[in-house]
Amino acid sequence: MHAIQQLPDNYEPVLEMNLQKNKKTALQVNGLAVGLTILLMLIGIIIHPLRFNLETDEDFKAFIIKMIVISVSYIAYIILHEFTHGVAMKHFGGQKVQYGFTGMYAFAGSKEDYFDRYAYLRIALAPLTVWGIIFLILNIVVPQDWFWVVYFLQIGNISGAAGDIFVSWKVSKMPDTLYVRDTGIDMTVYDRKHAA
Ligand SMILES: [Zn+2]
Repeated sequence: MHAIQQLPDNYEPVLEMNLQKNKKTALQVNGLAVGLTILLMLIGIIIHPLRFNLETDEDFKAFIIKMIVISVSYIAYIILHEFTHGVAMKHFGGQKVQYGFTGMYAFAGSKEDYFDRYAYLRIALAPLTVWGIIFLILNIVVPQDWFWVVYFLQIGNISGAAGDIFVSWKVSKMPDTLYVRDTGIDMTVYDRKHAA
């Protein structure tokens, strides 16, 4: 059983994370996102130098089309990212998966499910992994002048998962007896009470 709806009696909260309330955590996550963006931009420029060719009307039109494709795909990606978390939650036995939008960001979560460490790490990292592979394959198969269109989505996928990476890193260092409740807005880690 990777998901339970009732915590054992001897469990208590040991860690709480809410990026909207916890300024220090938010700063660390944003720092990680910025660092990843810079690193991935540098890698991209090495693989495929960024060149803007806007000399003719045709060039300009192609550029506008690419910008529109990036914008629309990125909005679709944000929804698919959360959907991927949701599917993973369901896969591991989540009963009450909910989707929502806070005005700041989209989320998937559950107020009534507690996932064990094994499941939670996979739920947290599912979008990064699945979409990372999809964008990598697309990056290889699309025509060269579409490289940066796909690569921008990949940068969004990886740096946008900074919160998922941060939370996974924290949880991976904690005991495997834990359970996590993630509402999509905040997450709480529960573990056995220490014998006094
Ligand atoms: Zn995520």
